[in-house]
Amino acid sequence: MKQQRPIVIRNGRVIDPSQGIDAIADIVLMDGLVIGIDSPGATQLSNDWSEFDASDKIVAPGFIDLHTHLRTPGQEWKEDPKTASEAAVRGGFTTICAMPNTYPAQDNASVVGELTQRCASESDVRIRPIGAITKGRKGHELAPMHELADAGVVGLSDDGDPVMSPHMMRQALTYSSDLGLPIINHAEDRGLVADWDMNEGAVATHLGLRGIPNSAESMMIARDIELARITGGRLHVPHVSTAESVEIIRRAKSESINVTAEVTPHHLALTEEWVYGERGNVPMVLHANAYDSNAKMAPPLRSEDDRVALIKGLEDGTIDAIGTDHAPHADTDKVCTFTEAANGIIGLETALPLTVGIAAINLNLVIERLTVGPRAILGDGTIGTLKPGAKADVIIIDPDAVWHVDRTTLGSKSHNTPLFASNAKGRVLATFVAGGKIWDADGYGASDA
Ligand SMILES: [Zn+2]
Repeated sequence: MKQQRPIVIRNGRVIDPSQGIDAIADIVLMDGLVIGIDSPGATQLSNDWSEFDASDKIVAPGFIDLHTHLRTPGQEWKEDPKTASEAAVRGGFTTICAMPNTYPAQDNASVVGELTQRCASESDVRIRPIGAITKGRKGHELAPMHELADAGVVGLSDDGDPVMSPHMMRQALTYSSDLGLPIINHAEDRGLVADWDMNEGAVATHLGLRGIPNSAESMMIARDIELARITGGRLHVPHVSTAESVEIIRRAKSESINVTAEVTPHHLALTEEWVYGERGNVPMVLHANAYDSNAKMAPPLRSEDDRVALIKGLEDGTIDAIGTDHAPHADTDKVCTFTEAANGIIGLETALPLTVGIAAINLNLVIERLTVGPRAILGDGTIGTLKPGAKADVIIIDPDAVWHVDRTTLGSKSHNTPLFASNAKGRVLATFVAGGKIWDADGYGASDA
């Protein structure tokens, strides 16, 4: 870590939902841990301490991302642990969970062990591996789940692909209770629609693209919830995108089924109209470049009614966490026809601009669902909080700061976001991991720490 001197972060508006704190305060970091939160100016400095002024800024626990596609091993031209880490700290994330759709897949202890070692030496943030549910993520045979748990995975998922077999899903959920790990199923019933480009609806019809209906997602979530009911297993639903899914999860929670859920920043902020490539506007006339492949992802951007339902689900606690589904792709994966384009957009660096900037969701709620929510799902009490004794993972935010999203500002190796080459509101000014300052925007606070 680059900064080991004790640090006092002064005069910030400290928002720590884990303790119900929203007040101007000083935070003291020492030996990689949070030592305390003091009234402004109360902390006495020693000579070797650094002082960091956060006046008029927000100070919060580092964000936790449950859903990052690390692309390592096997697709390092899209992302690697170093560039993922650079993207993470720019977005305020100090812990990220790596999805197992790599080459080879994270379906055994040796592959997970190698990745963990690589991340420890190449990355500045905490990278927690997620293991595969089935061998090779092919859906036919369970991966060695106990072996993966012993290797340190924090969840199990075939993400990118659904577990289509209910029998396989039932078995995985049965084991999940013993392991204490969530089963994270990419809910997309390919028995209903195998090949699609975007959300089914008027925009798909207008553009002549193939649609997938909301029910392809909600049917599979309903199935998984019934399987969680009969097994008592632990289900986590990633990237919820439809109003029907929110309602099904809400009902399951009211029946005390062991289910949690996450939503992406882009599904909270953007709708299917963004596929036109006109920042959500509907063009009068379609041109040759009638769509933006950077608005293609799985699940797809949905309707305004769905977006509103997702925000409602976030507000009432149906949706526990915000997960970015950071999915880097090379230009060659996106500069092609919409049908040929790969699914996914980068998400770590734009989580704040999408949720707070575009969707105008309450900042405290966003911070809560990026800290307390994922922390509870991971069951790790040492992160996502500024309680004394917690890891000194701290961020300083200006929710009103405007920055330009381009190759010079992004840390990711990939640039596939519909916000590319535009101004974004909401910026992370500094990120500390284990008490070391890993990132500052434009030299913010450089004279102090
Ligand atoms: Zn997925």
